[in-house]
Amino acid sequence: MSGLLKDSKAIRVPVGALAPGKHNYQFGIGGAFFGNFENSEIFDADLVANVEVEKGRGWMNVKCNVKGSVAVECDRCLERVDVPENFTADIAIKFTGDEVGNGDDFITANPDTDSIDLSQLIYDYACMNLPLQRVHKDGECNPQMIKYISKDSIDASGGTDEEKKNLPFEALKDLLKKK
Ligand SMILES: [Zn+2]
Repeated sequence: MSGLLKDSKAIRVPVGALAPGKHNYQFGIGGAFFGNFENSEIFDADLVANVEVEKGRGWMNVKCNVKGSVAVECDRCLERVDVPENFTADIAIKFTGDEVGNGDDFITANPDTDSIDLSQLIYDYACMNLPLQRVHKDGECNPQMIKYISKDSIDASGGTDEEKKNLPFEALKDLLKKK
């Protein structure tokens, strides 16, 4: 057992020194964790990972429930929006040369290794489990951004000529008009 590790940079579970049986760990996942991944859509987070590790002979099962919220770009106004996350990653770890455990994913490890880093797996799960719609509630989008974005895409008469030149779609519209 261990207490909540706030803003963990990685999710690691011990292997070699771990006694057989069940063990529980808790990690706090914040922006520092997602900062490790380049081009991450998630740029901040307030998540708690409850990790249950069961060690057997030749295998280990890791059940990792992750709950909380993450910050992504709003699809409508491009500003920060916090969306909920709640998923469980079921990971089977097979010690080299032994039988495979049951789980959605399995990885192999040396039984004497110090610990296993599950960060990449948890990161992939977090990205896969993002809601399809990442938008603010109605009326909570930044009105100035909405105005700015819709002006660019709908109102072709807006902006100076200099601004228009920098927008490839404006140039395209001009071409179509000339035909
Ligand atoms: Zn928005």
